[in-house]
Amino acid sequence: MKDSIKKIKAYEVLDSRGNPTIAAEVTLHNENRSMAFVPSGASTGKYEANEKRDCDDRYFGKGVLKAVSSINNDINTLLCGKDAADIQRVDDLMRSADGTEDKSNFGANAILAVSMACARVSAKNLNLPLHDFIAKKSLDFGIDAEQSMPVPMMNILNGGAHADNPIDFQEFMIQPVGFDSFNRALQCGVEIFHTLKGILKKSGLNTSVGDEGGFAPKLNTPEEALDLVMQAIEKSGYRPEEEVNLCLDVAATEFFNGLHYDIKGMGKTYSSEELIDYLNMLRKNYPISSIEDGLDEDDWDGWRKMVSAMGANTQLVGDDLFVTNTSRIKKSIDLSAANAVLVKVNQIGSISETLEAISVSRKNNYKTIISHRSGETEDTFIADLAVGLGAGQIKTGALSRSDRVAKYNRLLIIEQEAGLEFRGKDELQ
Ligand code: PGA
Ligand code: ZN
Repeated sequence: MKDSIKKIKAYEVLDSRGNPTIAAEVTLHNENRSMAFVPSGASTGKYEANEKRDCDDRYFGKGVLKAVSSINNDINTLLCGKDAADIQRVDDLMRSADGTEDKSNFGANAILAVSMACARVSAKNLNLPLHDFIAKKSLDFGIDAEQSMPVPMMNILNGGAHADNPIDFQEFMIQPVGFDSFNRALQCGVEIFHTLKGILKKSGLNTSVGDEGGFAPKLNTPEEALDLVMQAIEKSGYRPEEEVNLCLDVAATEFFNGLHYDIKGMGKTYSSEELIDYLNMLRKNYPISSIEDGLDEDDWDGWRKMVSAMGANTQLVGDDLFVTNTSRIKKSIDLSAANAVLVKVNQIGSISETLEAISVSRKNNYKTIISHRSGETEDTFIADLAVGLGAGQIKTGALSRSDRVAKYNRLLIIEQEAGLEFRGKDELQ
């Protein structure tokens, strides 16, 4: 077949933290070719698919030459002559040849790089923008949402594993909702970001940024961070709640010690119930619309209580809890343990499984948020993914650093090219 796979070649390249990652290029017999890069997390969930690292003396053990070699040899042989556009089959072939539950044989990073590159080259081959190809494919997975511009969640103040300050909560985000275009919502986020920088400077606080491009000032408590973000919103002339919501990624797994939530910056040790009460108190005092990983990845009981306490008016997002894994999402649906899913392609390690996770989530009225990782690259795949699936929301960091801004830029261009709707507040109903 003229447009079947002729060759797959992988490269060891670097991510935004300067750690090795994989770029894979798929070439079709008609010489169309495309490349994709895989991201990498820092506050990873323990149920994520295996990110294969060399564990030798190069790059402090983080080299990916073994995974690159799996692509250049086994996967290349396996997929030569196959139809790249049949993403389900391509992924199934790689998964069964890998033979492990967590993809640790080839490495989830290897499988994902090829899975993404196959989607991208197929879009090119059909002369479609990637988001249109994804929209077309999503029908095979029972996802029939209209394509739309996602509401961004912008991480403007960093703590936890992404910064060296004492603050334990990982991300303080703004979500511009009261606008009628992505472009205008982005402008709001940018203006708040720059205003926040000015406020930090004036207060004698550090304006250097963390891994996702947000500021990382030396603060101790979430309230101090939230107060600064609120000041920045108001000083920029925007109306909290009307136009801009606050969102948190607590990333609580990172400070759960097996028994308690040990919040060192605050000097507090909380039980699940106490942490839920604390989060509920924050939600009442600030316009917080969304809380991600408010509790540990195994604290199912706590998650159920959190949904009872706040689920009616707060988006409760599972990241480490779900790791984009359909069986964990199904468990939550049975237990009523959350109401939204953070979707990270490298947590599960293939595009078809990502689409399956989104399909199950949406059928059960869970909101979906397509997300970057703290270790990113110049690849903008997730921008097209969010649009093509009509996922509703995207979380892709601050308004600084090219690895983050590249996704926003791609969305700006898609919006102008395709003239798609930005649903803002309606998206969150
Ligand atoms: P990670 O962080 O990419 O380091 O896991 C992002 C998040 O927790 O959402
Ligand atoms: Zn998270």
